[in-house]
Amino acid sequence: MPSCNEEKISKVCCKAIIKHREKINAIQAKIKELQDRCPHYGLIKTPGADVGNWDRNDDEYWTDYKCPYCNKQWRTYHDEMS
Ligand SMILES: [Zn+2]
Repeated sequence: MPSCNEEKISKVCCKAIIKHREKINAIQAKIKELQDRCPHYGLIKTPGADVGNWDRNDDEYWTDYKCPYCNKQWRTYHDEMS
C-alpha cells in the first residue's frame, strides 16, 4: 500500500506529464503547419511493390515520398508500377 506522500508525488508527476504532452501537441501542430506550407522541393520518390502473390489482386504497388527539407513522409498506393 503506497503512502499518502507517494500518491502525492505520483499526482504531481502526472500533472507535469500532462502539461508536457500539451506542449508536444502544440509543437507537432506547428511542425505539421510548416510541412503543409512546404513546397517539398527535391521530393524523394521511392517506388515499392508487393508482387508475385498467388492472387494477383493481392499485388500492391506504392510510392514512398519524403521531403528532404521538412522531413514529411507519406505513401500512396496505385494500380501499377510507375
Ligand atoms: Zn517539404
